[in-house]
Amino acid sequence: MKKDIKSMTLDEITEEMKQYSIPAFRAKQLYQWMHVKLAAGFDEMTNLSKQMREEFSDRYIYTTLKTIRIQESKLDGTKKFLFSLQDGNLVESVFMRYHHGNSVCISSQVGCKMGCRFCASTLDGWERNLTAAEMLEQIYAITRITGERVSNVVVMGTGEPLDNYDNLIRFLHMLTDENGLHVSQRNITVSTCGLVPRIRKLAEEKLQITLALSLHATTDEKRKKLMPIAEKYSLEEVIPACEFYFEKTGRRITFEYSLVGGVNDTKEDAQELCAIASRLNCHVNLIPVNPIKERNYTRSSHHEIEAFKNKLEKNRINVTIRREMGQDIDGACGQLRRRQLQQETHEKGETC
Ligand code: SAH
Repeated sequence: MKKDIKSMTLDEITEEMKQYSIPAFRAKQLYQWMHVKLAAGFDEMTNLSKQMREEFSDRYIYTTLKTIRIQESKLDGTKKFLFSLQDGNLVESVFMRYHHGNSVCISSQVGCKMGCRFCASTLDGWERNLTAAEMLEQIYAITRITGERVSNVVVMGTGEPLDNYDNLIRFLHMLTDENGLHVSQRNITVSTCGLVPRIRKLAEEKLQITLALSLHATTDEKRKKLMPIAEKYSLEEVIPACEFYFEKTGRRITFEYSLVGGVNDTKEDAQELCAIASRLNCHVNLIPVNPIKERNYTRSSHHEIEAFKNKLEKNRINVTIRREMGQDIDGACGQLRRRQLQQETHEKGETC
């Protein structure tokens, strides 16, 4: 099988080139073409000989994405991208402009097996993990298309990043490598539904990234109703794992809390959330739930969201309501891909 050259680190490529008696500076040139100049293929690598480029394309896979659809918000310039991978699978990514810089939200898997009740990404199940190159390429493709530098990356699209652990770590090292795009580790957030052993493992990686935990409920009983993963790991395991992450990295934890009308948005919920959040150095991000048509969850009212936030603030918890980007182009996470898949099935059905 051909090697996936874009998922290889500079050290690995240098080693690989050595086997073909190609000097180390060539490895560096190749790496720069892929990860700094964001070349779309070997053909563009004009300081490598034609023969060398041909040998490379015989020997290696060069990961690229095909843009299927771009939706742009008229409200805030947010852009949603639907990409096709080389095997035809679809992933979506989002580009957002903030005052502190441009941010890209990437997917880490095709589909998801976690089954969170309010999330569209998991409705069709899990297909496969993304390679490091496929994660990087979402950022590279968006940089190429927009012509703008990406300074922040959030791994919050489709998939559970800690369920694709090795590729995620490889991706993080390559994204922050000074020989590549060199994104600051502090500008990267990885969001997890709470895979406890993996949170503890991530804490030991000596990375300065932010960990976001999808909390969404304050008791195991309620959490189990929203997130099947709560059957496996109780809050008394998840919260200490977050504390451990903070101890090891010094990075403040983000708790994501999607407010679902009548489910987790009462005064008592806010009070219980204060009790959890005051245990550790954290920031709470309240997300008004984005209703998906397959489930009958509704968003809490504006008044309830404000009241919830006030309660946390009164208890001196660091809290923000997630600014909703791209409201007009939207649908929740995973809906763009899902819509496309349904359309394709529908079209196939009609021609059969
Ligand atoms: N698997 C990771 C990352 C995926 S989604 C995780 O669970 O954290 C990123 C965040 O969006 C998670 O907090 C997820 O629970 C939340 N989310 C997914 N669908 C949502 C929806 N319809 N409305 C609000 N938040 C949603």
